[in-house]
Amino acid sequence: MSDQHQAAPAAAKPVYARMAVIGGGLIGSSVIRAARSHGAVGEIMVADANPEHRARLESLGIADRVFADPAEAVRGADLIVLAVPVMAMGAATAAAASGMKPGATLTDVGSVKGAVAEAMAAAAPQGVFVIPGHPVAGTEQSGPDAGFATLFENRWNILTPQKRDDAPYQAAIEQLTEFWMRLGARVELMDAAHHDLVLAVTSHLPHLIAYNIVGTAADLEEVTQGEVMKYSAGGFRDFTRIAASDPIMWRDVFLTNKDAVLEILGRFTEDLQALSRAIRWGEGEKLEALFTRTREIRLGIVAAGQESSEPNFGRDRRS
Ligand code: NAP
Repeated sequence: MSDQHQAAPAAAKPVYARMAVIGGGLIGSSVIRAARSHGAVGEIMVADANPEHRARLESLGIADRVFADPAEAVRGADLIVLAVPVMAMGAATAAAASGMKPGATLTDVGSVKGAVAEAMAAAAPQGVFVIPGHPVAGTEQSGPDAGFATLFENRWNILTPQKRDDAPYQAAIEQLTEFWMRLGARVELMDAAHHDLVLAVTSHLPHLIAYNIVGTAADLEEVTQGEVMKYSAGGFRDFTRIAASDPIMWRDVFLTNKDAVLEILGRFTEDLQALSRAIRWGEGEKLEALFTRTREIRLGIVAAGQESSEPNFGRDRRS
């Protein structure tokens, strides 16, 4: 099946003449599809290390050309987007470096920023504007078929620029901001270390909890696997969706955002101990106070447009 027919709106002038994406999986192919459908770029090149994914990218026809060699893919590109696993960002930058032209912007979509920003800066050639980024949008799927053009709509993309205030670099940030806004995203600038702490709370710890609880349920000898599947609607099902996320991606997230994750995990463990005490000693008012506060946070997320207020997250309507 091909979705190359999504034509650019006639009036929209491309933000960049040529974009190269390294890694055409869920996020990379979504960037390609969204850029194409919004006319945000002129030409699109993509490189992927996986031969099956390259073949799939060819048949989908979403990019103008598909490459095995990242240096070939980025030749002449004004925007280079790295969309490979976090621990592969440095190697992908190094592999593409010889093809990068001076004045090009190099960004990424990695879920961790401190370690990735350092790896990209170390491997990028002089004269290339390195502006790390993280679109806070995704699913538990992987690969070129999992991507879709509307993934970034109304989602935040956090850019963590280097600490430099020269005019050409500032202009490059503005152009990259315009690109993401054209894709329907909202853009925020943030310090890389702060990004990693915020995401440790909002994304990384929830994934760790999901991986852990699904693992615990799978290991319980008193409850059969059949019962786990059968009664999974009671909250467990939402954890299984998160725990189905890509193992390589999440291995990399925890290894590269170790300090922030351990800091937040420490706080979480203390709070869990307090909850455990409240249950043991029958302190119902403590439990009720916490559950009331957390319900308000949920309503705030819905009000901010980051989640559906439909029962069961609107899944019943979709299926
Ligand atoms: P994905 O679907 O697995 O796609 C990554 C693609 O890059 C795969 O085709 C992979 O091939 C290929 N690849 C791996 N190393 C490479 C290299 N050195 N050079 C060229 N290609 C390479 O992963 P994804 O979910 O799109 O994640 C990509 C990045 O987005 C990650 O850094 C992740 O942290 C970030 N991110 C993900 C989400 C999410 O929800 N998934 C959300 C926001 C940001 P193989 O399959 O053979 O490895």
